[in-house]
Amino acid sequence: MALKDYCFDGKRQLKLKEMPTDAGEYKVQKSDLVALTEANMTQAAMLQEKLYAAKREGLVFALQARDAAGKDSLIKKVFSHLNPAGLKITSFKVPNKTDLAHDYMWRINRAMPERGTIGVFNRSHYEDVLVVQVHQMQKDYILAPRCLTEDFFERRYRQLNNWEEYLWENGFRMVKVFLNVSKEEQKNRFMDRMELTEKHWKLSVGDMKERALWDEYERVFEDCINATATEHAPWYVLPADNKWYTRYLMSEIILRTLEDMDPQFPPLNAEEAAKIPMAMQELENE
Ligand code: AMP
Ligand code: MG
Repeated sequence: MALKDYCFDGKRQLKLKEMPTDAGEYKVQKSDLVALTEANMTQAAMLQEKLYAAKREGLVFALQARDAAGKDSLIKKVFSHLNPAGLKITSFKVPNKTDLAHDYMWRINRAMPERGTIGVFNRSHYEDVLVVQVHQMQKDYILAPRCLTEDFFERRYRQLNNWEEYLWENGFRMVKVFLNVSKEEQKNRFMDRMELTEKHWKLSVGDMKERALWDEYERVFEDCINATATEHAPWYVLPADNKWYTRYLMSEIILRTLEDMDPQFPPLNAEEAAKIPMAMQELENE
């Protein structure tokens, strides 16, 4: 499968059941792809420097997944190859009282990176149409009745599309990634968390409850991705059972996106450039 086979940009419908959750035929190429991941990220870091210097565009990767799909370790192993000075990583947890007293994009907007830098959202504005929809949390929100319509989530999909288009038109790109883990692999990872003391800190009984809602999450993920996949803000549905393969694909996405942005070092302005010969002379004469 080529990268484009994992990409959804609104031109075709996603059927989650048809998407792979593991590396499949690529398992035999593991060592090559691990090496390629490193090489991709070295190149990506060079483009990141240009992006930082040019400051014309900003980029955000929004990572969404079921529990134990590997978001945290993806950030640790892949994004760590980039310069931390140009990287802004934000984790979105259950909204607090202040968050809930605002519109749901309030906390998201505050986490946006500046142009020239790369944002990574560990969970994102998509929680507001995913977990909220699965648990129908909006029914407990303190909101004017006119806001709690039958088409509450359809409206939110529209709002998200409008917001992402607005960002695009203002020099930002949003790339959304869904880590697609299988039910069996999630079970293995939960088992590890219970058996290994060094993984106990990741344990959450709440995650077990979410697992019981597997099919409902599948329906909502599919619906959400189909409603919000656009050319300018695409979704990637990445197999997540083999972490090395997910990381390889993520490195491809980062590199191809930066290549597409094609950042260039800005030229020195004429006034500054004219001062160079004199400044060089001064240094030489020291
Ligand atoms: P974790 O990413 O495992 O640390 O867990 C964060 C938790 O916060 C997950 O259970 C998310 O579903 C939850 N969460 C994040 N954003 C929202 C939101 N907007 N509304 C409700 N729950 C959320
Ligand atoms: Mg969790």
